[in-house]
Amino acid sequence: MIYEFRVSEMAEEFGVHRNTIRNWITSGAIKAKPGPGKQYIMKRKDYLALCEKFGRVPRANPVKRPAPATVKEKGVESAVPPLVLGGSERTLYDDPSWADACLTCGTCASACPIAGVDGLDPRKIVRMAFLGLEDDLVVSDWVWKCTMCSKCEEACPMNIELVQLMRRIRSRRERDKVPGPIHKGVTMCLERGNNLGIPKDDFLFLLEDLGEELAAESCPGFVTPIDKQGARILVTVNSKEPFGEPDDMKWWWKIFYAAGESWTIPSENWEGVNWGLFSGDDQAMKTIVGRVVNNMRRLNCKALLLPE
Ligand code: SF4
Ligand code: SF4
Repeated sequence: MIYEFRVSEMAEEFGVHRNTIRNWITSGAIKAKPGPGKQYIMKRKDYLALCEKFGRVPRANPVKRPAPATVKEKGVESAVPPLVLGGSERTLYDDPSWADACLTCGTCASACPIAGVDGLDPRKIVRMAFLGLEDDLVVSDWVWKCTMCSKCEEACPMNIELVQLMRRIRSRRERDKVPGPIHKGVTMCLERGNNLGIPKDDFLFLLEDLGEELAAESCPGFVTPIDKQGARILVTVNSKEPFGEPDDMKWWWKIFYAAGESWTIPSENWEGVNWGLFSGDDQAMKTIVGRVVNNMRRLNCKALLLPE
């Protein structure tokens, strides 16, 4: 038996934030897969095990998902076998009945700011995914033009998770064929701790130098707080700032100074822009996020500031 749920429902049921449920799903702590619309599906026995772990009483009436209708069940005699899309590792959607979830209404295309660019139409992408045209989608550049702004998803009357679909398609592109610099940035970040490969000594020298400038200009006594134990806020940095626009960092610092805030920048793994998100590289994204979490723990910070 299958248990169907929305992230918001399960968050309420278990008394945690929605992002916690999403993290559990991504990490595999909850064995659930995306279902139609914004639903997820999991085995009923896994749901029961989760309830037991948290000491919760399982919901009495889990939603039962009917098996997909076959041609025969619809009362139509046909020599053509029903279309089966599921079962392969490369299948974006496992259940052919989900194709019914999309009305092909085009509301997503109306909301999309780049619909029409090189023939991009989110409705087409959804339809192709449901039809199993995965290889065509993976080699297509459409999903790489998508800004992942989520406007299509917000507009969709059927709650189809278009942004997640875009990421899943991106994740299936061979890494050396990912367009633009984002995969190189991910590799660089994994190797050197930031997307542009700025050496640690250069970064620290810049931070100290900017801090001295700021103290002389307008913030007497200012010293750039690096690796400050117990600071309230951990501040991550978009590497394009130290690389090309270092003075931009001082605007943040001035606000912190005026507010008397307790903050710090980590000396290592300070990158605040996770290009694994955009390249569809879940493993890299997880590693980079883990480093930020480690910095939070190492420095005992309470809040995190991400520049994007
Ligand atoms: S808005 Fe939703 S239902 Fe309508 S075409 Fe787009 S994906 Fe399909
Ligand atoms: S997420 Fe992508 S497809 Fe959807 S509206 Fe934004 S750019 Fe268009």
